[in-house]
Amino acid sequence: MSRRDKIVVAIDGFSSCGKSTLARELAKQLHYVFIDSGAMYRGITLYAIRNGCVHGSELDRGKLIQQLGDIHLSFKLNPETQKPELHLNGENVEKEIRTPEVAAQVSQVATIKEVRTKLVDQQREMGKNGGVVMDGRDIGSVVFPNAELKLFITAEIETRVQRRYLELQDKGLEVEKDEVRANLLERDRIDSTRKESPLIQTEDAVVIDNTNMTRSEQLELALELVEKKIVTLA
Ligand code: C5P
Repeated sequence: MSRRDKIVVAIDGFSSCGKSTLARELAKQLHYVFIDSGAMYRGITLYAIRNGCVHGSELDRGKLIQQLGDIHLSFKLNPETQKPELHLNGENVEKEIRTPEVAAQVSQVATIKEVRTKLVDQQREMGKNGGVVMDGRDIGSVVFPNAELKLFITAEIETRVQRRYLELQDKGLEVEKDEVRANLLERDRIDSTRKESPLIQTEDAVVIDNTNMTRSEQLELALELVEKKIVTLA
C-alpha cells in the first residue's frame, strides 16, 4: 500500500475535549495506529515524581533533564481491551499516569525543551510510514506539520469538566469538580502560552466543536473527512 493510502491524521485541542477517544476510535475504524502523545508527557512526569524531581509543587527541571536518557517509553497493546497502554522502562503505567498528581505537574514538564525534543523525535519515528492517528497539542503544528489531515477539537469548558469528572470517578478516583475545572484551565493556560511549541490552531486544521455532538456523530464526521482527503490525494 502506498504512503498516500495511509495518511497521518493529527488531532490537537485543549484538555479533555475527547481527542484521545476520537483518535482511538478513528484509528480502529481505519486500521491505523493510535498514538496518545499526552500519555508520553504523563509518563515522563510520573518518572519525575518517582525519582525526586518534584518537591511539593516545584519541579527540578535540571535534575529531570539529566535523567532523560534513563527514560524509555513504549506502547503495548492490551490484548483484553485492545487499547495501547504506556510502559515506562518496561512497567505498565497506564493507570498511574492518569492520576490527579500527574495531571497537576504534566504541563510544567511539557514546557521543557529537552523533554519535547525527545518525545517529538520518538513520535515522528512512530508516524514516519503514515497510517497513524496521533493526538496532542503540537501534532499538526510541530510533530507532523505536513499531516494530510489536521483536526482541532474544542468543546465548552463545563462539558469538558463533566466528562473528565465522570472519567475519574469511573476509575474510582474521588475528586471535586472545582478541582477538575481548575486543573483543566491551568493546563490550557500553560499549554497555550508556553514558549516551546504552544498549543495553536493551525490555519489548515478543520475545527470540530463537539459540545453538542455524540461520540459516534463526531467519529462519523472525522471518518468522512478522512475519506474525502484520501480521495483528493488519489
Ligand atoms: O492529552 P493529555 O491531557 O493527556 O496531555 C497531558 C499534558 O501533556 C497536556 O496538558 C500538555 O501539557 C502535555 N502535552 C503536550 N504536547 C502534546 C501532548 C500533551 O504538551 N503533544
